[in-house]
Amino acid sequence: MINIIYGTEKLDMTYKLLQSVSVEKQLRRDMNVVIKPNLVVAKPAYEGATTHPEIVEGIIRFLQDFGITKLVIAEGSWVGEKTDRSISCCGYDTLIKRYGIKFIDTKKDKIIKKNAHGLELGVCVTILESDFLINVPVLKGHCQTKITCCLKNLKGCIPDSEKRHYHNIGLHKPIAVLNTILKPNLHVIDGICGDPTFEEGGNPVAANRILIGSDPVLLDSYCARLLGYLPEEIEYIRCAKEYGVGNLYNSNTKIYELQKENRPKVSNQNQSRIVKELTQLIDERNACSACYATLIFALNKIGIKNFNKKTHKSIKIGQGFRNVKSAGIGIGDCTKGCEYNAAGCPPSAIDIINAVDRFK
Ligand code: SF4
Repeated sequence: MINIIYGTEKLDMTYKLLQSVSVEKQLRRDMNVVIKPNLVVAKPAYEGATTHPEIVEGIIRFLQDFGITKLVIAEGSWVGEKTDRSISCCGYDTLIKRYGIKFIDTKKDKIIKKNAHGLELGVCVTILESDFLINVPVLKGHCQTKITCCLKNLKGCIPDSEKRHYHNIGLHKPIAVLNTILKPNLHVIDGICGDPTFEEGGNPVAANRILIGSDPVLLDSYCARLLGYLPEEIEYIRCAKEYGVGNLYNSNTKIYELQKENRPKVSNQNQSRIVKELTQLIDERNACSACYATLIFALNKIGIKNFNKKTHKSIKIGQGFRNVKSAGIGIGDCTKGCEYNAAGCPPSAIDIINAVDRFK
């Protein structure tokens, strides 16, 4: 089961999502709870690389309202970045002070060696010894692994020496194996404005959604489709499934959407050069941001030149196209009157890519 909430009030959305899955039933007041965001680099969340502090704040408020007192945020930035810089640039220093929370830099934490599936991997003790682990990744693109979300975010739970080791032995298997050792109880995915092109951000695309679930393979395979990839294209998802970490998304997976009726509309302000290029063929009329973001993800995957060669026509999207007959491709249920339609409300980028493939 995956729950999704749409909107712009990130703290409130997160709190509602946690209530929607009754997290309190899994908690005890004496638990030692660790929250693991993505602070890969010292860039504010609006650039599309790091977890919005308001989402983590929503989690903290929920836990403290329940009565949890032993609460830690743990993370280590990527090799070459100081975690301290990321903490202050991303607004976590304020958060830590305001709520009286401990922060553990996983670059400096003690390591315990674990053996699994023929690999020996060093993992930070703070994470291993937690009673309840909440993973808070950003849904975004990645230059080596195509996407990064729940499974890959756990790479921040190991020190720099281990990160280098992972790159030496190929990223996919160690990421999957790490997920057999560390098993977060919950994943809260920041799908607010992830960058579909690079893990370090700079090309944010506003989708204004947050997702929650407990199976990282299910969540990552669903999110891969949102970004335009079949789960089979992402090797670490395939490996994690093979190692029994979870199950792949399929058409029977239950998806519950909250605040669907209040989905924010598109705002084309402050688009990066790359995103502007991708949007040049779009004819948008009152589209929801989640729908529009998915179209940008699909165009990013297809490549704008390839798309242009194939269609030479604008792509219709938005509620302004309801009951309008039109040639070419329409995105989402609002554009059913188009010659070719990617159905869904919103569709996934995979649905859009398939509609483009059908175009003659
Ligand atoms: S298809 Fe749905 S998500 Fe897309 S613009 Fe229409 S109402 Fe919004």
